[in-house]
Order: sequence, then structure tokens, then C-alpha cells
Amino acid sequence: MLQENELVPFEAKLLLGERLLVLAPHPDDEALGCGGLVALHANAGKQVHVVVATDGSAADPSVDANTARTLRERETSLGLARLGVSRPAEFLGLPDRLLASNLDSLRATLREILLRQRPDLVAAPSPVELHPDHVVLARALFDVLHGDAALRSALPPGSVAFYEVGQPFQPNALVDITGVSEAKEAAIACHASQTGLRDYGRFIRGLNEFRTMTLGAEARVAEAFVVASFDELRTMPWSELCAFVLPRWQGRLEPDAAPEPNAPSLREEHNLAAEKQTAVINDLYREIERLNGIVNEVHRSRLWKLRESFGRLTGRG
Ligand SMILES: [Zn+2]
Repeated sequence: MLQENELVPFEAKLLLGERLLVLAPHPDDEALGCGGLVALHANAGKQVHVVVATDGSAADPSVDANTARTLRERETSLGLARLGVSRPAEFLGLPDRLLASNLDSLRATLREILLRQRPDLVAAPSPVELHPDHVVLARALFDVLHGDAALRSALPPGSVAFYEVGQPFQPNALVDITGVSEAKEAAIACHASQTGLRDYGRFIRGLNEFRTMTLGAEARVAEAFVVASFDELRTMPWSELCAFVLPRWQGRLEPDAAPEPNAPSLREEHNLAAEKQTAVINDLYREIERLNGIVNEVHRSRLWKLRESFGRLTGRG
């Protein structure tokens, strides 16, 4: 059995790249998922480039798509300013909730961005998120890093830090964001079109506070990540990555006990019981046939007729 500190980190990690590339499926994920990491990079004077894949126009059906797109781009820019990022975000403007139907072009765009930005740390949505756009963006990044040999040699050594938003996972890195948590909350508050629909600030605060459970008392707020190096992603199949991010670890550690040798299965037990019942019923039929034979025999016998006659004579027939 693994110990707790082998399942979740007990120490905060300083996850700091020279060039951080943030991939956000929607305009707000850069704040919700890794706003603390972004602020830490900005504070340390590192390069931060944020790419927002979809236009976020599907979140509120009461707002028309063009208005929503403009509003959400502005909210993202305001939020990034609160995190200390002055560099403008790159909006790909793909249709919200429909990333899956743009997978090929998304892969090509990501490849171009990776070559242009040459990041040594990529913050990306978790492959096991609830929202389909998050999963598709994670998959597109994985496909490019996994299968593109030319890209491999062109990129510097680096890592992907997968972040969580709607589906908590099993992290291998916890980043203490206590010092920048106010900036993160302020950045989330900039996405008023979204926090007005649902209280995302409260959900993320709860998640980030929970993530300090295994850290020292000085850590009040932390972001969790699953970090995998570019090299690991080159060799690891997608299914293995997903199992690594959200393992059913108890099942993995202690596989189901092997069935007892020669022990009948439930179906075999059921068949045996049915066979026994059929045998009992057949025995009963045979007994009824035997008794019927005796009755017929008695009817045909002289003795029976004699008794019948005596019965009539004595008034009992
Ligand atoms: Zn999202």
C-alpha cells in the first residue's frame, strides 16, 4: 500500500518556467485553473503568453454571440492585468462547445504557437475534465507533443502542467499561491458575465483552499497540477495519461481477488439448482403415474366389484 505522500505531494513546488504558455479553452479558465501560477510568473518577470481557444459565446444564451465574444475578451484582458500580465492574450475565436469539430485545425494552430513561443512550461486543461472543450484542448496538445517528431526536436526541454477546474484530480504538484491569491480572486471577479451566472470564485476558492491540506500551515491557498515532461508525453499513450491524472488507485494497487479454483460461478449454481428441481418434479410425475396404475388395477379387480356390491347391500355404496 502506498503512503499518502506518494499519492499527493506534502510539499509545495515552485513551478516556474522561463516562458509560460497558458492554454485556456474558454475566456476565464486562465484565471480559474491557473491564475495563481500566472501571477507568480508575472511577479517573477517571466514571459506569459495566454491563448484562449473558444469565443465563450455559448455560456449565456440570452446574450448574442458577437456581444458575448467582445465582452469575454475584455474580461480576460482585465483579469490578466490583475494577474500582472501586460502582454495581450491570443484569442483563437473558435466556436464555444464545438472544439471537437475543429480538432484538426486546432492541432495545426497549437503546433504553430508552440514553435513561435517555444515555451518551457505549458499550462493546459486536464484531460479528464467535465467540459468537452477542456478535454479536446488537452487532447489536441497531447497529439501534437506525442506524435509530431519535427516539433519534438524544435522545442526546448519543458513540461506540461495540467490544471483542474471542474473535476478534481490526483495532483503530483501543489503550488502555494497564498501570496497571489488576492490577485487571482480579483482576476476571477473580472469575469462578471460568468460569475453572475454561477459563483465560480467561491467554487475555485474552496478547491484551492482544500489543496493546502497536505501542506504546511503557512500555505492557505494552493493550485494543484499534474505535471508531465514533454519527453514523458512523447512516449506515454493517451489512456495512460488519463489514468495517471485520475487513477482508480485502490483498484490499481489491489486488483480483484482471483476466483477460488473449482468454485462454481453464480450461473453454474443457478443451473445446478434448476436441474435438482426438474429431477424432483419428474420423480413426482412418476409417483403419480404409479398410483394411477394401482387405482386402475383395483378398479378392474373382482375384489373391488365385490366390495362395491357389498357396499350397495349395506347402503354404503
Ligand atoms: Zn472552461
